[in-house]
Amino acid sequence: MILAGWFAGANTGVLYIRAEYPHSITVINDAIRDLKDAGWLGKDIFSSGFDFDLKTIKGAGAYICGEETALLASIEGQRPEVRVRPPFPTIEGLFRKPTILNNVETFANLHSILTLGGEAFANIGTEKSTGPKLVSIDSHFKRPGVYEVAMGTPLTQVVDELGGGFKTPVKAIQVGGPLGGLVPIEKIKELTVDFESFSEAGFLLGHAGIISIPETFPMIEYIEHLFQFTADESCGKCFPCRLGSTRGQELIHKAREDDQFKIDPELIQDLLETLEQTSLCALGGGVPLPIKNALQYFADELSPYFKS
Ligand code: SF4
Repeated sequence: MILAGWFAGANTGVLYIRAEYPHSITVINDAIRDLKDAGWLGKDIFSSGFDFDLKTIKGAGAYICGEETALLASIEGQRPEVRVRPPFPTIEGLFRKPTILNNVETFANLHSILTLGGEAFANIGTEKSTGPKLVSIDSHFKRPGVYEVAMGTPLTQVVDELGGGFKTPVKAIQVGGPLGGLVPIEKIKELTVDFESFSEAGFLLGHAGIISIPETFPMIEYIEHLFQFTADESCGKCFPCRLGSTRGQELIHKAREDDQFKIDPELIQDLLETLEQTSLCALGGGVPLPIKNALQYFADELSPYFKS
């Protein structure tokens, strides 16, 4: 981030971290103090004439604050509502100033790019997805944690070698967060950890966090959870997401509770397409993907809840 500030002529870097991750905040604040003590932050850094400081801001629990314009609104002290783009943050960002906004993982790559050289860095990974990728795997794995792999690494290597396989039988993994694709277990062997492999197969790599869905967990309940999550976290700006997520949750819930009620497949497809095509941001626009994956790959398990 210091390098990015130097390139862009910015004097302040903000690390926005969710308050639910207090350990991360402590670690980052310690690192900032170490940088200050070593002379890498402050005024006239190493007599370069360049001033730069870092500060941390605690997010107050809204998932949508991962969306860049909502994150900016949150830092400004406003309601974290998604803004229409353009203008993009690089033109008009924090307090209407040009702002470089990236995931910390992206900024962290700058160090390797500059020390290894761009060409050597680009040689890591695949032709289009260059560099390394952090993959975080959940507690259903024998060795949960965060691993760094080269893009293009077979997904089986992550699951079986790094993760040590699953503790209990798992039927699918959701990769890339609640808006990421739902990968049935038999598809894992066909995928590599890079953006192209996932999108060609109809999934999404996203941030590459992996959540496991145990064999015993009903897929209909998982779909309801996805709609409920979107309804809870929707910023409310556009109604395909604000209303559609709630209507979807109600529909699934009714089918779970009432044996006589069956979901019209056309109605749910219509709802998913409306969400996908007309939502303003990736929350409403992204939730249809894992639900469509579930409807496709778990059709037999879900059939009792749908009209035939
Ligand atoms: S899709 Fe949802 S979260 Fe995104 S702008 Fe619309 S209401 Fe807000």
